[in-house]
Parts: sequence; structure tokens; C-alpha cells
Amino acid sequence: MTPEGEALLRQGAAELGLNVDTQVPAFAALLDLLVEANTRVNLTALKTEPDIVLKHFVDSLSCLRGGHLDGAGRVIDLGTGAGFPALPLAIMAPDTTFTPLDSIRKKIDFVRAAAASLGLTNVTAQVGRAETLGRDPDHREGYDRVVCRAVAALPILAELGLPLLKPGGRLVAQKGPISEAELQAGRQAAAEVGGRVTVVDAFTLPVLGDARTLIVIEKTGPTPAKYPRREGVPNQQPLF
Ligand code: SAM
Repeated sequence: MTPEGEALLRQGAAELGLNVDTQVPAFAALLDLLVEANTRVNLTALKTEPDIVLKHFVDSLSCLRGGHLDGAGRVIDLGTGAGFPALPLAIMAPDTTFTPLDSIRKKIDFVRAAAASLGLTNVTAQVGRAETLGRDPDHREGYDRVVCRAVAALPILAELGLPLLKPGGRLVAQKGPISEAELQAGRQAAAEVGGRVTVVDAFTLPVLGDARTLIVIEKTGPTPAKYPRREGVPNQQPLF
């Protein structure tokens, strides 16, 4: 990582109230791994150092706003892609176990290789679909938090994410600006699957100023056994 990239990482993290002094080497190593792997496999459209530092690393760390992950033992990252937000969060929180999940094997192959290379023993990546894991007794109600960034509309996230949460757990969705219509549909879907939207936190991404929203859905009751519906249905026929 260049001195300029490191300065952006430090500045972005500082604006989020985070100190990354001890984590800079891990982020620098992750940057190298991502840039190198991206020359062989198409993992991410972001290719320049400032873009990766700000739009992947710092943006992933913005998931920590509001302390919604505090005290979580097991966190699943639904639709992690090349490991975002899971890998930056795992670098920052070594005592929390992260399960980056994606249906695309080549992405999870990268996440596994990166976690091994960085010595992140708190990462256990999984290839699969959220619809399948949500029905698997090894994963249903198995997590304290679901995180997800740029994966789907809020009603779809509610159906895919709430089955994976323990009672009292929280889904933390990282999105850009959200419309009132999507939010309303998300509230209705959350109620249908045993949850309630408790936080809508609009903010701007450090340094760049792009609009972002963190949405928290708390699991307030059991998710009916019929959810999640079979693979693809939540996307094709959202609950609301
Ligand atoms: N979260 C990453 C990020 O912010 O860079 C990746 C975002 S990418 C736009 C969405 C990812 O979600 C894709 O890699 C896709 O394969 C995955 N995905 C979408 N629906 C999924 C599902 N039902 N189960 C598992 N993965 C899913």
C-alpha cells in the first residue's frame, strides 16, 4: 500500500471513530491479494488503490457505526462477494467469528485464500445460497448477526437473513440511499418473517461523501418455517 493509500485508510477509519494502527499491515496485504487475484479472476470492478481502500475497506468498516455488531459471537456475511464487509470486519474484530457466504465458488475460493494468507482464524467461508442455509439446521438460527452489503432490496434481505438469526439477533444491511417505498416494503417483510426495522441510519461515506444507509432489522419472534422460500423465489417474487 502506498503512503497515500495508507493515509486514506487512516483518515476514513478515523472519521468512523476507528483506529487502525495495528491493522494497517493486514489491510495492505489484503489490497495486494485482491489486486493480484483480480488480474486472474474477475472479483471486483474496483481496481485502483484509492477505490479499494475507500469503497471496499472503509465502506465495509462503516458497518461498525452505531455499535450494532458489539458483543456478537457469530456473524454471517450474506452475499460477501470478494469478502466485503466480512474480511475488513474480521481484521478489526478477531474475537468474533465470521462466515462469509456467497453462491459463487470462485469468490469464496478467494476469501478462503485471503483469510488463510492473513492468518484470520476467525473466518470460515461458505459456498452456498442463503435460501439453502436458512433451511439447514446447522445454520438456521445459528448467528447473532447477519451483515450484507449491496446484495438485494430490503424485503429480499429480510426473507433471506432473518431465518439465519438467533432470537434477538440483528440483520445489519449496508445500502446506498434507500427509497421510502423500499423501506416500507422492508418493514412489512420484516414483520412477516419475525422482525422489526429498528434503525435507519443515513450518513455519508468518509472522505468521498457518498450517501449510505445502515438499516437494522431486529429478530423479535420466530421466523415461520415456510421461510426462506426455495432458491430464487425471494428475488423473483419479493414478499412485498
Ligand atoms: N457484498 C459484496 C460487496 O459489497 O462487495 C458483494 C456484493 S455483489 C453485488 C452481491 C453478491 O451477493 C454476489 O456475489 C452474489 O453472488 C451474492 N448473492 C446474491 N444472492 C445470494 C444468495 N441468495 N445467496 C448467496 N449469495 C448471494
